[in-house]
Amino acid sequence: MPELNPGSSAQEGRHLIPGVRKVIAVSSGKGGVGKSTVAVNLAVALSLNGSKVGLLDADIYGPNTPMMMGVEKPPEQKDGKIVPAESHGVKLISMGFFVPEETAVVWRGPMVHTAIQQFFRDVLWGELDYLLIDLPPGTGDAQLTLSQLVPLSGAIAVTTPQEVALHDVRKGLMMFQKVNVPLLGIIENMSYFVCGHCGHRTDIFSHGGGERAAEKLGIPFLGRIPIDPAIRDGGDTGRPIVVADPQSPQAAAFRDIAAKIAARLAETGAGEEEQGVERLLKKIKGPFADK
Ligand code: ADP
Repeated sequence: MPELNPGSSAQEGRHLIPGVRKVIAVSSGKGGVGKSTVAVNLAVALSLNGSKVGLLDADIYGPNTPMMMGVEKPPEQKDGKIVPAESHGVKLISMGFFVPEETAVVWRGPMVHTAIQQFFRDVLWGELDYLLIDLPPGTGDAQLTLSQLVPLSGAIAVTTPQEVALHDVRKGLMMFQKVNVPLLGIIENMSYFVCGHCGHRTDIFSHGGGERAAEKLGIPFLGRIPIDPAIRDGGDTGRPIVVADPQSPQAAAFRDIAAKIAARLAETGAGEEEQGVERLLKKIKGPFADK
């Protein structure tokens, strides 16, 4: 199996979103593996750690982050731009705010492209340390569009431990590799279940698949998240487990992974050079920066 992580920095020739330092794609090979749950909890964990964080839910076919973040009102507009919603310290924009579910399922590539482009161009993200992008599952238009539009600092893949989900995740990661996006690692969700009554641990969807896949692909394994009613409940009630029960081992698992991602991004330094130049220019131009 070839080494998948070329260790390259952001793709060449793309423009950064002004003020946004790191753009991270959260992907999965198939739906229902908990990609949005992971994206939401990682975003909030990074924010709790003092970073400025945004979450762009680009999952046109199942945009459920507003519910998971407890956001009910659609974002407001200011001077023709969209002001992102804010919840648990994270700025949020979701397809779910703009497109009725029944409409999105018939969307074709160009429409996805335009929508994602608008989310970058027309949203007042402000200064962000991290912008996480919750992608639709698979290796479709949204992924390609995204890698053409912004220099991704890295991509994360969420999978469950069993073979079929892993096969899909490998395919998805190879797509990112082709367009030179650094692979930050694999997260294994719904990894095991610990009985709340007797403490017995059961590997519902087999064991260790995520770690083996990461090894084969030559990329980091970022960690395991248990399958747990409290995690699902956090999603259903708009209070992600990292805020609803910060002392729990489940919350600790998310925080640990968030810290690993931050550390790995700091290592690769993707996006820093360009951003540095931009900041310098701003400083030099001062009040005329936007002129
Ligand atoms: P995806 O974005 O991959 O389609 P979601 O994040 O929407 O998946 O999760 C699908 C369902 O599984 C949701 O109801 C969510 O609450 C639940 N879920 C996700 N991860 C876990 C977990 N670790 N434990 C329990 N339920 C989970």
